[in-house]
Amino acid sequence: MLTLKHLFRGTSTVRRGIQDKEYFNERTDVSSTVRYPHVKLPMPDNSRNQLHVEIDDCIVCDLCAKICPVDCIDIISIKATEEIGKTSDGSSKRLYAAKFDIDMAKCMFCGLCTIVCPTECIIMTDEYDVSLNSVEAMNYHFSTMSEEEAEQKRQELAIAEAQKKAAKEAAMAEAKRKAEEEALLKEKGEEGNA
Ligand code: SF4
Ligand code: SF4
Repeated sequence: MLTLKHLFRGTSTVRRGIQDKEYFNERTDVSSTVRYPHVKLPMPDNSRNQLHVEIDDCIVCDLCAKICPVDCIDIISIKATEEIGKTSDGSSKRLYAAKFDIDMAKCMFCGLCTIVCPTECIIMTDEYDVSLNSVEAMNYHFSTMSEEEAEQKRQELAIAEAQKKAAKEAAMAEAKRKAEEEALLKEKGEEGNA
Protein backbone atom coordinates (compact mmCIF):
# COMPACT_ATOMS: atom_id res chain seq x y z
CA MET A 1 0.00 0.00 0.00
CA LEU A 2 1.20 3.51 -0.77
CA THR A 3 1.89 5.71 2.20
CA LEU A 4 3.13 9.27 2.76
CA LYS A 5 6.63 7.80 3.11
CA HIS A 6 6.45 6.63 -0.53
CA LEU A 7 5.23 10.07 -1.58
CA PHE A 8 8.15 11.87 0.06
CA ARG A 9 10.64 9.35 -1.29
CA GLY A 10 9.10 9.75 -4.73
CA THR A 11 9.78 13.48 -4.75
CA SER A 12 13.50 12.67 -4.81
CA THR A 13 13.14 12.14 -8.59
CA VAL A 14 12.38 15.84 -8.97
CA ARG A 15 15.80 16.68 -7.69
CA ARG A 16 17.34 14.93 -10.67
CA GLY A 17 17.77 17.26 -13.66
CA ILE A 18 16.43 16.27 -17.09
CA GLN A 19 19.99 16.65 -18.39
CA ASP A 20 20.87 13.60 -16.30
CA LYS A 21 21.30 10.71 -18.78
CA GLU A 22 19.56 8.35 -16.35
CA TYR A 23 16.58 10.68 -15.92
CA PHE A 24 14.13 8.40 -17.80
CA ASN A 25 15.49 5.16 -16.43
CA GLU A 26 13.15 3.23 -14.20
CA ARG A 27 13.98 3.85 -10.57
CA THR A 28 13.99 0.78 -8.37
CA ASP A 29 14.97 2.51 -5.15
CA VAL A 30 11.72 4.51 -4.87
CA SER A 31 8.11 3.55 -5.48
CA SER A 32 5.58 6.31 -5.54
CA THR A 33 3.43 4.55 -8.14
CA VAL A 34 2.61 1.02 -9.24
CA ARG A 35 2.68 -0.27 -12.80
CA TYR A 36 -1.10 -0.06 -13.25
CA PRO A 37 -2.93 -1.81 -14.88
CA HIS A 38 -0.37 -4.65 -14.71
CA VAL A 39 -0.10 -4.16 -10.97
CA LYS A 40 -3.07 -3.20 -8.84
CA LEU A 41 -3.15 -2.02 -5.28
CA PRO A 42 -5.02 -4.41 -2.98
CA MET A 43 -8.45 -3.05 -2.10
CA PRO A 44 -9.48 -2.84 1.56
CA ASP A 45 -12.21 -5.28 2.61
CA ASN A 46 -14.67 -2.45 3.15
CA SER A 47 -13.99 -0.70 -0.15
CA ARG A 48 -17.00 0.22 -2.27
CA ASN A 49 -16.72 -0.82 -5.87
CA GLN A 50 -18.80 -2.55 -8.53
CA LEU A 51 -21.78 -4.51 -7.26
CA HIS A 52 -22.45 -8.14 -8.05
CA VAL A 53 -25.53 -10.26 -7.40
CA GLU A 54 -25.24 -14.01 -6.99
CA ILE A 55 -28.68 -14.51 -8.45
CA ASP A 56 -28.98 -18.18 -7.45
CA ASP A 57 -28.84 -17.07 -3.81
CA CYS A 58 -31.36 -14.26 -4.21
CA ILE A 59 -34.81 -14.77 -2.68
CA VAL A 60 -36.15 -11.71 -4.55
CA CYS A 61 -37.30 -10.10 -1.31
CA ASP A 62 -36.88 -6.60 -2.79
CA LEU A 63 -35.24 -5.22 0.38
CA CYS A 64 -32.21 -3.95 -1.53
CA ALA A 65 -34.40 -2.09 -4.03
CA LYS A 66 -36.50 -0.58 -1.25
CA ILE A 67 -33.52 0.74 0.70
CA CYS A 68 -31.60 2.09 -2.30
CA PRO A 69 -31.57 5.89 -1.89
CA VAL A 70 -31.31 6.53 -5.63
CA ASP A 71 -33.68 3.80 -6.88
CA CYS A 72 -31.10 2.24 -9.13
CA ILE A 73 -32.15 -1.36 -8.41
CA ASP A 74 -35.05 -2.54 -10.54
CA ILE A 75 -36.60 -5.89 -9.65
CA ILE A 76 -39.64 -7.64 -11.09
CA SER A 77 -40.67 -10.79 -9.24
CA ILE A 78 -43.07 -13.56 -10.17
CA LYS A 79 -44.57 -15.74 -7.48
CA ALA A 80 -43.78 -19.41 -7.93
CA THR A 81 -46.53 -21.98 -7.51
CA GLU A 82 -44.34 -23.90 -5.05
CA GLU A 83 -40.87 -23.76 -3.50
CA ILE A 84 -38.34 -23.54 -6.32
CA GLY A 85 -35.24 -24.34 -4.36
CA LYS A 86 -32.93 -23.20 -1.60
CA THR A 87 -30.15 -20.65 -1.45
CA SER A 88 -26.70 -21.67 -0.26
CA ASP A 89 -27.62 -20.53 3.27
CA GLY A 90 -30.74 -22.72 3.23
CA SER A 91 -33.32 -19.97 2.66
CA SER A 92 -36.41 -21.03 0.79
CA LYS A 93 -36.91 -19.59 -2.71
CA ARG A 94 -40.51 -18.88 -3.71
CA LEU A 95 -40.15 -16.02 -6.15
CA TYR A 96 -38.57 -15.82 -9.60
CA ALA A 97 -36.50 -12.78 -10.52
CA ALA A 98 -37.92 -11.91 -13.94
CA LYS A 99 -35.84 -8.73 -13.84
CA PHE A 100 -32.93 -7.74 -11.63
CA ASP A 101 -31.10 -4.71 -12.93
CA ILE A 102 -28.65 -2.42 -11.15
CA ASP A 103 -27.86 0.82 -12.88
CA MET A 104 -24.27 1.43 -11.83
CA ALA A 105 -24.36 4.80 -13.57
CA LYS A 106 -26.76 5.98 -10.86
CA CYS A 107 -25.35 4.00 -7.94
CA MET A 108 -23.79 6.16 -5.23
CA PHE A 109 -21.90 3.23 -3.69
CA CYS A 110 -23.47 3.68 -0.27
CA GLY A 111 -23.46 -0.07 0.32
CA LEU A 112 -26.89 -0.11 1.98
CA CYS A 113 -28.17 -2.83 -0.35
CA THR A 114 -25.37 -5.16 0.75
CA ILE A 115 -26.20 -4.56 4.41
CA VAL A 116 -29.92 -5.38 4.24
CA CYS A 117 -29.67 -8.44 2.00
CA PRO A 118 -30.79 -11.42 4.11
CA THR A 119 -28.83 -13.96 2.07
CA GLU A 120 -25.76 -11.74 1.49
CA CYS A 121 -26.00 -12.36 -2.24
CA ILE A 122 -25.51 -8.73 -3.27
CA ILE A 123 -21.92 -7.80 -2.69
CA MET A 124 -19.32 -5.14 -3.42
CA THR A 125 -16.59 -6.68 -5.54
CA ASP A 126 -12.98 -5.48 -5.68
CA GLU A 127 -13.50 -4.24 -9.25
CA TYR A 128 -13.22 -0.47 -9.52
CA ASP A 129 -11.67 0.17 -12.94
CA VAL A 130 -14.59 -0.62 -15.22
CA SER A 131 -14.82 1.43 -18.40
CA LEU A 132 -17.73 1.09 -20.81
CA ASN A 133 -18.73 2.70 -24.07
CA SER A 134 -22.21 3.84 -23.10
CA VAL A 135 -24.28 4.77 -20.09
CA GLU A 136 -26.78 2.04 -21.05
CA ALA A 137 -24.04 -0.58 -20.68
CA MET A 138 -23.71 0.44 -17.04
CA ASN A 139 -27.15 -0.96 -16.35
CA TYR A 140 -26.19 -4.48 -15.28
CA HIS A 141 -28.66 -7.32 -15.76
CA PHE A 142 -28.48 -10.14 -13.23
CA SER A 143 -31.66 -12.07 -14.00
CA THR A 144 -31.09 -15.20 -16.02
CA MET A 145 -34.74 -15.53 -16.97
CA SER A 146 -35.77 -14.87 -20.56
CA GLU A 147 -38.98 -12.96 -21.42
CA GLU A 148 -40.52 -16.22 -22.71
CA GLU A 149 -39.74 -18.04 -19.46
CA ALA A 150 -41.16 -15.15 -17.46
CA GLU A 151 -44.37 -15.24 -19.50
CA GLN A 152 -44.62 -19.00 -18.96
CA LYS A 153 -44.19 -18.57 -15.19
CA ARG A 154 -46.86 -15.85 -15.17
CA GLN A 155 -49.26 -18.19 -16.99
CA GLU A 156 -48.49 -21.06 -14.61
CA LEU A 157 -49.22 -18.74 -11.69
CA ALA A 158 -52.47 -17.52 -13.26
CA ILE A 159 -53.61 -21.14 -13.80
CA ALA A 160 -52.64 -22.17 -10.25
CA GLU A 161 -54.44 -19.16 -8.76
CA ALA A 162 -57.55 -19.81 -10.88
CA GLN A 163 -57.55 -23.46 -9.70
CA LYS A 164 -57.13 -22.37 -6.09
CA LYS A 165 -59.98 -19.88 -6.40
CA ALA A 166 -62.24 -22.49 -8.04
CA ALA A 167 -61.42 -25.02 -5.28
CA LYS A 168 -62.19 -22.42 -2.60
CA GLU A 169 -65.49 -21.49 -4.22
CA ALA A 170 -66.42 -25.18 -4.57
CA ALA A 171 -65.60 -25.78 -0.87
CA MET A 172 -67.71 -22.78 0.15
CA ALA A 173 -70.62 -23.92 -2.04
CA GLU A 174 -70.41 -27.42 -0.51
CA ALA A 175 -70.36 -25.99 3.03
CA LYS A 176 -73.39 -23.84 2.21
CA ARG A 177 -75.24 -26.79 0.71
CA LYS A 178 -74.57 -28.89 3.84
CA ALA A 179 -75.70 -26.09 6.13
CA GLU A 180 -78.95 -25.68 4.16
CA GLU A 181 -79.51 -29.45 4.20
CA GLU A 182 -79.01 -29.61 7.97
CA ALA A 183 -81.35 -26.66 8.48
CA LEU A 184 -84.01 -28.38 6.36
CA LEU A 185 -83.67 -31.65 8.29
CA LYS A 186 -83.93 -29.76 11.56
CA GLU A 187 -87.03 -27.93 10.33
CA LYS A 188 -88.66 -31.24 9.30
CA GLY A 189 -87.82 -32.78 12.67
CA GLU A 190 -89.46 -29.91 14.49
CA GLU A 191 -92.61 -30.25 12.34
CA GLY A 192 -92.79 -33.98 13.13
CA ASN A 193 -92.59 -33.35 16.84
CA ALA A 194 -95.37 -30.74 16.71
S1 SF4 B 1 -24.76 0.79 -3.19
FE1 SF4 B 1 -26.38 2.23 -2.51
S2 SF4 B 1 -26.89 3.39 -4.33
FE2 SF4 B 1 -25.74 1.60 -5.04
S3 SF4 B 1 -27.32 0.08 -5.53
FE3 SF4 B 1 -26.71 -0.27 -3.39
S4 SF4 B 1 -28.19 0.91 -2.16
FE4 SF4 B 1 -28.30 1.69 -4.27
S1 SF4 C 1 -31.97 -8.02 -0.68
FE1 SF4 C 1 -30.72 -9.75 -1.42
S2 SF4 C 1 -32.16 -11.47 -1.49
FE2 SF4 C 1 -33.38 -9.60 -1.37
S3 SF4 C 1 -33.81 -9.06 -3.54
FE3 SF4 C 1 -31.97 -7.93 -2.93
S4 SF4 C 1 -30.27 -9.25 -3.56
FE4 SF4 C 1 -32.09 -10.52 -3.54
